[in-house]
Amino acid sequence: MLELLKTHFGYDSFLPHQEEIVSSVMAGNDCFVLLPTGGGKSLCYQLPALALDGLTLVVSPLIALMKDQVDGLRANGISAGFINSTLTQSQISAAQERVRQGGIKILYVAPERATLPDFKRFLASLKVGLIAIDEAHCVSEWGHEFRPAYRELQDLRRACPDVPIIALTATATGRVRDDILSQLALRQPRSFVSSFNRPNLTYAIEPKKNSLPVLLSLLERHQGESAIIYCLSRRGTEELAHTLSERGVKAAAYHAGMGPELRRDTQDRFVRDEIQVVAATIAFGMGIDKPDIRLVVHYDLPKSIEGYYQETGRAGRDGLPSECVLFYSYGDKAKHDYFVNDTEDPEERERARWRLEQVVKLCSQHACRRKFVLEYLGEERPDENCGGCDFCLVPRDNFDATEIAQKILSAVARTGERFGVGHVTNVLLGAATKQVVDRGHDKLTVFGIASDQSKDGLRGLIEDMVGEDLLASSGGQYPTLNITPKGWSFLKDRDTLVLARPVNQAADSVVPANSSSDDLRLFNELSALRKRLADERGVPAFVIFGNKTLEDMARKAPRTAEEFARVSGVGQAKLLEFAEPFLKLIVGYVEQHGLPVAAEVPPQSSGKPPPEIIGDSIRESGRLVSSGMSLADVAKRKGLKETTVLGHLERLARGGVAMTLDSAMPPPDRVRHIEEAFANLGHELLRPVRDELGEEFSYEELRLVRIGILASVQLLQVRDLDEAVAVRVVIPAERLTVGVTACSDGQG
Ligand code: ADP
Ligand code: ZN
Repeated sequence: MLELLKTHFGYDSFLPHQEEIVSSVMAGNDCFVLLPTGGGKSLCYQLPALALDGLTLVVSPLIALMKDQVDGLRANGISAGFINSTLTQSQISAAQERVRQGGIKILYVAPERATLPDFKRFLASLKVGLIAIDEAHCVSEWGHEFRPAYRELQDLRRACPDVPIIALTATATGRVRDDILSQLALRQPRSFVSSFNRPNLTYAIEPKKNSLPVLLSLLERHQGESAIIYCLSRRGTEELAHTLSERGVKAAAYHAGMGPELRRDTQDRFVRDEIQVVAATIAFGMGIDKPDIRLVVHYDLPKSIEGYYQETGRAGRDGLPSECVLFYSYGDKAKHDYFVNDTEDPEERERARWRLEQVVKLCSQHACRRKFVLEYLGEERPDENCGGCDFCLVPRDNFDATEIAQKILSAVARTGERFGVGHVTNVLLGAATKQVVDRGHDKLTVFGIASDQSKDGLRGLIEDMVGEDLLASSGGQYPTLNITPKGWSFLKDRDTLVLARPVNQAADSVVPANSSSDDLRLFNELSALRKRLADERGVPAFVIFGNKTLEDMARKAPRTAEEFARVSGVGQAKLLEFAEPFLKLIVGYVEQHGLPVAAEVPPQSSGKPPPEIIGDSIRESGRLVSSGMSLADVAKRKGLKETTVLGHLERLARGGVAMTLDSAMPPPDRVRHIEEAFANLGHELLRPVRDELGEEFSYEELRLVRIGILASVQLLQVRDLDEAVAVRVVIPAERLTVGVTACSDGQG
């Protein structure tokens, strides 16, 4: 299986659970797989499909995606096909014929087709190895994507009684899960359920005021990357798309009120990276399988945590860091209240109200967002810094808030628990506003008792106290503060309160930077090449390579087919088809700029750029020699001694920079002699080699050949030993004369 994994998909190892699932399928068990988006579900049936005899039938509700999925498999050298309503009758017959002859190993169909009598007959006439039911939650009325045809799928069991069935989904509350197991008539299924946590996503809540500039800077940070912005209303999506377009962002609206054709077209352009941003109602995304969405924004409040989780879940399916930002104002809740109050069924109305309150709680609480969402979904989470939400990412200091909390509670009590945050804050600060004076609140003893605080500081404290359940905020559009029972006993018992205060609010990005700019430049070039190849073939870019693969490629900067094959995500088929154009680009890049700084060095944690140890002049010498100039010419042109240029080349070679040294090298037979001598004597010292070879070989020649040896070895340099965790030195076997020397400080 590992071999098939590498050959076809280019991966060296399984993601969590994949191995057990694949083994279980291979053993003929029915399986139920619940993995979060991006968890690698497809592989759970695609890999067994390659090893099993006969056809693997994949039932998927997403007709619009089938072509891309099939293109993706074909790019990996796997014979796949689909049958759906976008094909003509004769195309369908042709596809069936290919299946019959074994020319298609994996076949995608929609549930409506899978249960047609004709199709079942066709299926019964074949050898079927596995049936995969994707998006299995569609079987349940409790899910939000119910598809009646899924109910008929148990017929497949009757048509193919001995074939194992694997059902997969990323969304399943307990109820939906039970439905899947019973409705699909799975036989003693093995269940594989993993955490819903999406570690590569960061969550942030932003106050919704003056949000356009904040949104624009988010988009700027994600320039050239895909983003979805969810809005509540159709008009909202259109206005926002318009506003963004006016500012030069390639944006389009998407909502259920647009004709199906326009919707399809928008979706296609988004998937093919022709538009960067889709401003959408929640109608968008159900049929989207774009793995490289880097940003999901909720411009309005979502209706429920389930919805929020699912919509944000469309970000970062490829496992790379992605951001989820929600703009929140309490006033937004009122827009939903309107719909909630309109709900006729009183029970449903209460549920809707409760769901909405949970969203408000998520936004207004001062605690980890991830923990809240996952616990809402029924997952126990430890009390720890998640490292990926706006609360956890801001360093905090504890401080004793007892006194100020007492002042705040007193102010709320003295003003009769009938005012909101703004009024209470004014009283505490001693601001004699009209309302304060009219109510006589400037005469209260609490007037001005917190005048040493800032307005925002007090607001933050009050929010914290709501979070600590000392205060409650209730009411419609203008909520008022009142003291909870816990708040009263805090006042009475003179408890102490410790709160955490942000140390430094300057964190402008919650996504940790983890690529050096060098990496990024090469990545961008690779990505442009990918886009060109994708366009030539009329497929989305990710069918060629996913971003994770491109990142690995930029990091490793492979320069031979062998190295290229080691990039994660490069299987046999892609190696054959794509190694050449990508290698050409990389070799050219490395010649021009040298190896990416970060090649093989773990990400810098401090965020400061590593010190540049190879200067431009040195790099220039390498470039000139590589372009075919002789050593003497380079020296003359730069006004340097030849030995200095040699010194440059040595530093470059030791730094792992690739060069073409042909023009500077002695004739091949001399090179062979010298190489042999180095192989025997080691190449640290030139003297013994010279003694061995005799006077007719010059020191200059020896140094050049040694540079050639070094340059052909991918010797990677660690720039900052304190930060380096591991370095891998790749040395081809025939070059194993190279010793690894300690660093000058002896710590190597
Ligand atoms: P899901 O269907 O669960 O959302 P996918 O099947 O689309 O997830 O896989 C998510 C991403 O992970 C894809 O880019 C896929 O190529 C990648 N992937 C799958 N299996 C592996 C693996 N074993 N190693 C590395 N990447 C993998
Ligand atoms: Zn957190």
